[in-house]
Amino acid sequence: MSYVTRFAPSPTGPLHLGHAYSAILAHDRALENGGRFLLRIEDIDRDRSKPEWEQQIYDDLEWLGLSWETPVMRQSDRLPEYRNALKSLWERDLLYPCTCTRRDIIDAASAPQEGVQYGPDGIIYPGTCSVKTMMPGSMTDLPEGVALRLRMAMAAGIAGTPRVGMGRVLSFTETGDGETGLIEKSTDQIALEVGDIVLSRKDFLGSYHLSVMLDDAAQGVTHVVRGLDLFDATQIHVLLQNLLGLPTPEYHHHRLIRDENGKRLAKRDDAKAIRKFREEGASPADIRAMVGL
Ligand code: GLU
Ligand code: ZN
Repeated sequence: MSYVTRFAPSPTGPLHLGHAYSAILAHDRALENGGRFLLRIEDIDRDRSKPEWEQQIYDDLEWLGLSWETPVMRQSDRLPEYRNALKSLWERDLLYPCTCTRRDIIDAASAPQEGVQYGPDGIIYPGTCSVKTMMPGSMTDLPEGVALRLRMAMAAGIAGTPRVGMGRVLSFTETGDGETGLIEKSTDQIALEVGDIVLSRKDFLGSYHLSVMLDDAAQGVTHVVRGLDLFDATQIHVLLQNLLGLPTPEYHHHRLIRDENGKRLAKRDDAKAIRKFREEGASPADIRAMVGL
């Protein structure tokens, strides 16, 4: 069986110890299993991505002793693929345009007394734009320059396989540091907890969820290794794979590297940047030790 892992950083800041842990883990697991390790630059958000951060990713990973296959996949090269996937969902009437501002969403979601509910993708969208009348997707072109949301209730009736007493069920195999084994969830539960997520943004074609899921499939990734912070997003990825007829890889969500105060590292934590440790004379072996490898 083939074994393909990947590291998929966004070039929006320096890689820190958490990234080092994720990259080394994915790299080592591929090596141990006689597999392949791929790199993907997640630069779909053109405003936040910078060429100098991309270069620093290569420098840091090389310094850590990792090697990966070339050419490296870059999301900015994949807009036609994202458009095709969106078009297929659009033609099945699974998407609708949303013109709500963040303020609109908060106002609508807070009325009457329920308060704003959060899911793995942030505020659960109250559905305001879903009921606006329009032509069926199959009769119009895919709109661009406007946010497109997934009709989750409809998706829940299509995705997964029927199970007595549970509606339709989606599943994936998890081997990471949190909940492990066969993770199963009903599509109705996913719809409830996730809501109508954005699959294409106003400012760029696609979204994190759509692109990550399409790219993993396009790169033939069989084992996704990434942080536990993305565990809850995985149900969204599995649902999208199912809707688009793509394979579901195995997932390994690893523990998060935290600072002295137990806080998860963020891109702006320059103090924990790999570059900083390098400049202070640390060796790649020191970095491995620091993250417990
Ligand atoms: N690009 C994402 C990040 O930098 C990771 C996406 C993933 O591993 O699925 O956090
Ligand atoms: Zn809206």
